[in-house]
Amino acid sequence: MTNLHPYDHAEALHDLVEIHLERLDQRYTRGRQALVDLLYSSGRPLSIGDIARALPEIPRSSAYRQLADLARAGVVRRVAAVDDFARFELAEDLTHHHHHLLCSRCGDVLDVTPSPDFEATVAAMVAELTRRHGFEATSHALDVVGHCSRCQS
Ligand SMILES: [Zn+2]
Ligand SMILES: [Zn+2]
Repeated sequence: MTNLHPYDHAEALHDLVEIHLERLDQRYTRGRQALVDLLYSSGRPLSIGDIARALPEIPRSSAYRQLADLARAGVVRRVAAVDDFARFELAEDLTHHHHHLLCSRCGDVLDVTPSPDFEATVAAMVAELTRRHGFEATSHALDVVGHCSRCQS
């Protein structure tokens, strides 16, 4: 698993998150900080069950609400193959660009960081796709849905 954090200290991350929230007049509460810390340190997308186990002091309903607020602020991104298997991770502009392999049977989510060659090919394909529409691409997301190695019979 690749987990390249651009920050030496989580402090820089927290400053950025605070700025994102301030834009929406939202406060960076203790609960939100705990969620961001957890997503940062885990380095992989977490389900609401994972989050409840790691932060038992935050009720699930509250965790959902906080995650929705953090998503609105552009801090958290929801990743899912199917709706029942929603996972949460920090937004890419706070971490690094990557793609996902999503298992539609067990809900497992694998973060994958493709090679620079792969990204160059995707960028060229995206340029071809967007040019004729006069659309300016600023990022892309490519999630592959299928069956993980454990779930193939
Ligand atoms: Zn699976
Ligand atoms: Zn990419």
